[in-house]
Amino acid sequence: MAKRIFRCAYCDHRLRFGSSECSVCGQGTPVLNRRGLWVSTFAVLVLGAVMVVLAGL
Ligand SMILES: [Zn+2]
Repeated sequence: MAKRIFRCAYCDHRLRFGSSECSVCGQGTPVLNRRGLWVSTFAVLVLGAVMVVLAGL
């Protein structure tokens, strides 16, 4: 079962996680609802960890 945390600010429709726009009214969703943000955040964290490890050598 998919968790639907965010609601559309325009029509109050429950947004499917990862979608960049509301499936009902087509307006953009909150940035936190977008999967790309979490993917890039994770990438930055991994990159940062690698840098720390390399700096420690
Ligand atoms: Zn909407």
